[in-house]
Parts: sequence; C-alpha cells; structure tokens
Amino acid sequence: MDIPKLEIKNIIHFYEEKKILDINRVYINEGESVVIFGPNGSGKSTLLRIMSLIEKPSKGEIYFKGEKINKKNSLNIRRNFVLLLQKPIFFRGKVKDNIIYGLKIRKIPGKEIQLRLKKIISLLSLEKLIDRRIDELSGGEEQKINLARALILQPEILFLDEPFSFLDASVKEEVIYELRRIIKKLKQTTVFVTHDWEEAVLLGDRVILLYEGKVYQEGPIEEVFNKPKHKMLAKLVGVETILKGIIKNREGKLLKISVNNNIFQVIGDGELGEEVFLGIKPEEVFISKNRPEGSVRNWFLGEIEEIIPSGRVMEIKLNCGFPLKAFITKASCEELNLNIGKKVWAGIKATSIHVIKKGK
Ligand code: ADP
Ligand code: MG
Repeated sequence: MDIPKLEIKNIIHFYEEKKILDINRVYINEGESVVIFGPNGSGKSTLLRIMSLIEKPSKGEIYFKGEKINKKNSLNIRRNFVLLLQKPIFFRGKVKDNIIYGLKIRKIPGKEIQLRLKKIISLLSLEKLIDRRIDELSGGEEQKINLARALILQPEILFLDEPFSFLDASVKEEVIYELRRIIKKLKQTTVFVTHDWEEAVLLGDRVILLYEGKVYQEGPIEEVFNKPKHKMLAKLVGVETILKGIIKNREGKLLKISVNNNIFQVIGDGELGEEVFLGIKPEEVFISKNRPEGSVRNWFLGEIEEIIPSGRVMEIKLNCGFPLKAFITKASCEELNLNIGKKVWAGIKATSIHVIKKGK
C-alpha cells in the first residue's frame, strides 16, 4: 500500500488534566477529501490543529509522506499546510493584495505570483471581485477570497475548520459546491471539519467520526451514516437514513432515483445520470401492514431488523434492500403487532425526501 500523505499514530492530548484526544490512527491519502465529523466539543478543532502541526500533541507521532515530524522539520513541513478558520482575517485594502500577500512573504518571484493570480482568478471566477476593497465584500464573497488566498499557496494539504458556519444557508450551499468543484479539479488533498451532515456528505470522500476525543468509525460516507457503530452517537448527531442513488428519469421537478435498483420518486433538482444522496428523516416514514392507496408515492416492502424504544417513540430498522429507519408511536407498534423478522410496508412522500446533489 502507498504511504499516506499524512498519518497520526497513538495520539493522546491533554489540556491541563483533561484528556481531550485519544486516537490510535488517522491517515489522509494524496488527493483525498476527508471530513472529520462530530458534535461540538468532540475535539475536532484540536485534532485539526495537531494534524496541521500548529499544536504539538502531548503524546504520539505524526508522519508526513512517511517522514516522522520532529522539532527540526516541523516548521518547514508546516509551511506547506494551510488552515482556514470560521472567520477570515484580512488586512484593509484591495482583494488582490490580500490574495497575494502569502506569496509575497514566502518570497515567491513576482512573475510566478502574477501567473498564479491569473489562474486563481479564472478558477474561482474572481474577475469582478479582484479590484474591490475588502470591506466591500459580502460574507460569501469573503469566504471565496479566503479560499483563493489559501489555494494560491498551492498547499500540500488544505485544512478547513467549519469555515462556512457563519454564512446563511443559501450562500453556504453555493460556496460548498464551489469548494467541491475546485478541490476535485485540483485534486487538492483536503481535511474538512464539520458537525453538519450535509456538509460532510457534500465534501467528503471519506468520513472520520469523532466523539469525546475518540475515533468511533471511519469509512465511506454512506457506510458511516447508515451503519453507525455507536447508538448514542447516531442520536447525538441526528443521523438519518442516507442513501446513495443515481437519477434515472426526470419529469419537471419529479425525479426517479435508483438506489440499488429500488426506484424512489422524489421532488427535487438534478440531471440524468447524476449521483445524489437521499436524506430521509425517520419521522417521515409511514409503516403499514398493507400497501395503502393514496397520494404517497414511495412504498417499499421491508423486513424488520430491530425495534428500539427511543423516548416516546419506537425506532424501527428495516431492510428494504437498503436500510431504512422509521419512528412510530408505541401504540401503533402494538396495534400493528410489529416484531423482528416481520415484513411491513414503508411509505415516504416524494416531498419528504431531501436530495443532496453530488455532481457527475
Ligand atoms: P470541537 O472543535 O469538536 O467543538 P474542540 O477541539 O474545540 O472541539 O474542543 C474539545 C475539548 O477541548 C472541549 O471540551 C474544549 O472545552 C476543550 N478545549 C479546547 N481548547 C482548549 C484550550 N485551549 N484549553 C483548554 N481546553 C480546551
Ligand atoms: Mg471546533
């Protein structure tokens, strides 16, 4: 196997007496986009500071392309990393000067700076923004410039710590799509921290679940979100059914999406052949003994695999050829006489399914 670009091993980190991180191994491969996902306080920012060599762990080793980090090489290697934070800090003046500032202090020759600037302007479509003053930018534009300023440095690894959490939802979505497009195009190695599962789905090739300073699970997005190994974690982060599918048909706003050859009818946007993720909340799934007539477009026959009491409702885990979670009241559970191994119909309205586009 190839040597990972970055690898941390046996990391333990304390703040005063408190153990904040306890991690066996985390690795990042060349060109990969990895998401570190976990609730607030789980240690994501601390882990990112350690991985980006800004903070030294209390114990443990870090390797960059197989080379062990030590006092001597740490600063030199760190120069190849960029960490983006929630709030960008700019100096007053023009957008352009802010973007090239990092290259100037790295003493990159003027010709090279102009070349890279040209590339970045075209890559991020900054033609209109480049000569503006920093204080004339909107929040979304600021983050775009922040990204340009990071990418122009051509970092070996780009680290982002919830950089979009201050943006409005609509702007945020746009910036995330833009970021996704660019890191794919540049094959930029990226580590992105978030507590938002939609961001995780959009940006991660792979996800690392962090909880109370420990890595609970790691793998492809749909695997980690659908089969969380830790029940408490699943509840905490509000994991829903997340399914990977492909758009097979489109009539206006009605999409037909294939998930392991099961066809979902969904209201949303997207193009034929496009890969999407479907998000389904357990409270939006109906359970029925027979397939009823009516306006609900999606019905799947599934076998009950688990019934878990969850507060005032019961959580039902179904296997419909894909995993599906439903909540029903205790009364309905008794009325329907549900038990493990029984087959029931699960219904979901076309408007209840959330479509997350991943692009072609
Ligand atoms: P996250 O980014 O997932 O929200 P953090 O890495 O910021 O989590 O924090 C993890 C834990 O470490 C929290 O309990 C937090 O209070 C604590 N912590 C973070 N930074 C410091 C610090 N500089 N000194 C003491 N405790 C800290
Ligand atoms: Mg944080």
